[in-house]
Amino acid sequence: MAVRPIVRLGHPALRTPAEPLTAEQLATPGVQALIDDLFDTMIEAGGVGLAAPQVDEPVQLFVYLAVDARGEQQAEPQRRVLVNPMLEPLGGELIYDWEGCLSIPDLRGLVPRHPEVRVHALDRHGERLTFRAEGYEARIVQHEFDHLNGVVFLDRMRDLHSLAFSAEWEAYMVAADDEAAVG
Ligand SMILES: [Zn+2]
Repeated sequence: MAVRPIVRLGHPALRTPAEPLTAEQLATPGVQALIDDLFDTMIEAGGVGLAAPQVDEPVQLFVYLAVDARGEQQAEPQRRVLVNPMLEPLGGELIYDWEGCLSIPDLRGLVPRHPEVRVHALDRHGERLTFRAEGYEARIVQHEFDHLNGVVFLDRMRDLHSLAFSAEWEAYMVAADDEAAVG
């Protein structure tokens, strides 16, 4: 396992749609090592999610920590791996909340997201997963899913008035106990 370099905005990997993985590709030691490296890299960087294109691997795969940053933080966040994911919005008005991105360091902004999505994907062993994600988890999943399609959170902002550097964001724009979903 290893920490890999995270590419930043301007690198073409962030703007290139990723390819789906076949069952054979997913089972290879190279892709299994990529999954472990994504976790190592994400944790080292202090994020809650990381998609393969962010380490210059153009495949439809991302990892995240299923944590609730709105109070009920689990003692042991669950590590989730989603391969070839599809998202199905489950209705409800878009909700604005703070996001940041490991590939766009030090910026925060308010991003509208679906409050609840149904996720269809494979796990790291190629088993089918279907589940509902809501709230903070739904936000992380939508942020990472966008990375598989060459989309970053700045593209999703309705306007840029809330865009701020982290230090100014903490000083002037957000409650002390609030967190941004950084992935
Ligand atoms: Zn990101």
